[in-house]
Amino acid sequence: MTISSARRIAARMETIGTEGAFAVSARARALEAQGRPMIHLQIGEPDFDTPAHVREAAKRALDEGATHYAPFSGIPELRKAIADDVTARKGFSADPSQVFVTVGGKGVMLYAILGLVDPGDEVIVPDPGYPIYESLTRFVGAKPIPIPIRMEHEFRLDVEELASLITPRTRLLIINSPANPTGGVLTRADLERIAELAQEHDLWVMADEIYGRILYDGAEHVSIASLPGMAERTILLDGFSKTFAMTGWRLGYAVVPEALKEVYSELVINTISCAPTFAQVGAVQALVGPQDDVEAMVVEFKARRDLIVNGLNEIEGIRCATPLGAFYAFPDISGTGVTGAEFAERLLTEADVCVLAGTAFGGVGTDHIRISYANSRENLTEALGRMGRFVAGLGRG
Ligand code: PLP
Repeated sequence: MTISSARRIAARMETIGTEGAFAVSARARALEAQGRPMIHLQIGEPDFDTPAHVREAAKRALDEGATHYAPFSGIPELRKAIADDVTARKGFSADPSQVFVTVGGKGVMLYAILGLVDPGDEVIVPDPGYPIYESLTRFVGAKPIPIPIRMEHEFRLDVEELASLITPRTRLLIINSPANPTGGVLTRADLERIAELAQEHDLWVMADEIYGRILYDGAEHVSIASLPGMAERTILLDGFSKTFAMTGWRLGYAVVPEALKEVYSELVINTISCAPTFAQVGAVQALVGPQDDVEAMVVEFKARRDLIVNGLNEIEGIRCATPLGAFYAFPDISGTGVTGAEFAERLLTEADVCVLAGTAFGGVGTDHIRISYANSRENLTEALGRMGRFVAGLGRG
């Protein structure tokens, strides 16, 4: 981007990153429009429909006039439903006044970084990790400090390595469990040590728990905010996109400590005024209504996880760990002789399977690709077949 003349673009736009999935999706769709039989394994969204009772509630809300501004922090019924759900599931007592309903979980991270991080500060972000953490950190003139997340360590961060990255400039620590893109889940012991470090160094923590209910094999979801002394320094990020297959509704929420209510109030008022009113009415039913759809979705995701992990491990040159959460696999493909970036590019153009390069999530993922298994078993089976033939072709090339 060149900056010249009076009609220039703000210099800070030089620092912003992106989310690779959106650009790659556009390319895959363009190929599909030319008649190619593309299988999409790049998208981080459940392929299920939003539960019917949630849709019905939002439709009724539209007809009943919920088409005006809502209170900036969210409608009272939803803030209460969120506080009750958080209190019941996450092991700490949340008051509705601590809840801010935002446009997507993405809103929560924007406000955490805008509100807490100054130019020159450091923010510790998982690598590989959701790319927006790093992008927004750079955008505010701060420095992202990557904490490596390795397959050899079950895709959990190494807490002693984390300790070594904290400096007097560290302002915010971002954790994400279960994680995108690895499906890794932090253990209670990990979180206890992270909590100790946060208190010792007086850090804010943003805990991205958007995949908190998508867990397998009895893995436990522990919210760091539930650990002693942590609720007052933790911004909890969660939302409706993943758990309730509501990505297009654009609803997320923050649960913030008393000291940050003002920050979130001002930032919400300055950016969105409020999240869509009728969507919020629907979202109340997602929390207080039947949970069968969520449970059925997780059962189906587990079957798909097993299908994709087993299938990948049968391909020579690919090693895939079994993720304990979310709906992603992050296999090491270095045995195929190419990098993750080349693998993803060629798989797209030569085999009509769209995945993301591990580097879309940070430098540590060079040897990996990310596969979202939020797709039918039939498509996953077909994609595995195509991948197997593609990798066999690489060996011959
Ligand atoms: N956090 C993580 C780790 C994610 O993977 C995503 C979406 O992919 C989000 C937050 C944002 O979700 P949304 O803005 O749709 O609520």
